[in-house]
Amino acid sequence: MKKIVIISPHPDDDVIGMGGTIAKFKSENYFITCLYITQGCHSPSNVKIEPNHLAKVREKEAKKSALILGIDQTIFLRFKDIKENNQAQKVHKELEFHLSKLHPEEIYLPHPQEQHLTHKIITELSLNIAKSYLNYNASIFGYEVWTPIINPTMFMDITSFVELKREAILAHKSQIEEKSYDEGILGLNRYRAVFLHINKINKERYIEVFERISI
Ligand SMILES: [Zn+2]
Repeated sequence: MKKIVIISPHPDDDVIGMGGTIAKFKSENYFITCLYITQGCHSPSNVKIEPNHLAKVREKEAKKSALILGIDQTIFLRFKDIKENNQAQKVHKELEFHLSKLHPEEIYLPHPQEQHLTHKIITELSLNIAKSYLNYNASIFGYEVWTPIINPTMFMDITSFVELKREAILAHKSQIEEKSYDEGILGLNRYRAVFLHINKINKERYIEVFERISI
């Protein structure tokens, strides 16, 4: 059984970036672990809920979403904000611990050109860990959330799983009240299908793209 780990800076990045691919991997019997790094409790997408309460709400939403997609294991590191002093070091330590223990064959994380600062920091940390500490060859792939990938190198046809992806995004109720992440990302997944000139992929489909990262 192939073991994969998804690194999700906030509780909804996994589903937005690669929800269709997760459901597809599940149908192929992969063992999928998702590491959620921050609580996303200062999310500008919902300022009506007090941060400590929002943290709990978002964890519940992530668990529901994980269940819909078929994620086997969810691990919440529960950092509040990694941009504060010394937090990055702590994240580094915990990530290193979990990645060494889980020993995945494939790691998925936000691609390195993501503009969102928290995503950027977490991807950098994870790639440093992979370079310095993981003495095996895991394949690493970047997924797209806030910033589209300029030169994608892996394409996943998620057409059969698109309704599951939509349902899983809608499970993040606190987030979609202010922003229609479902429409935004499914629009991008449609765009990928329409504008990619790849044999056997017709325009009616939905595609998630990835960037293979060499370290
Ligand atoms: Zn995020």
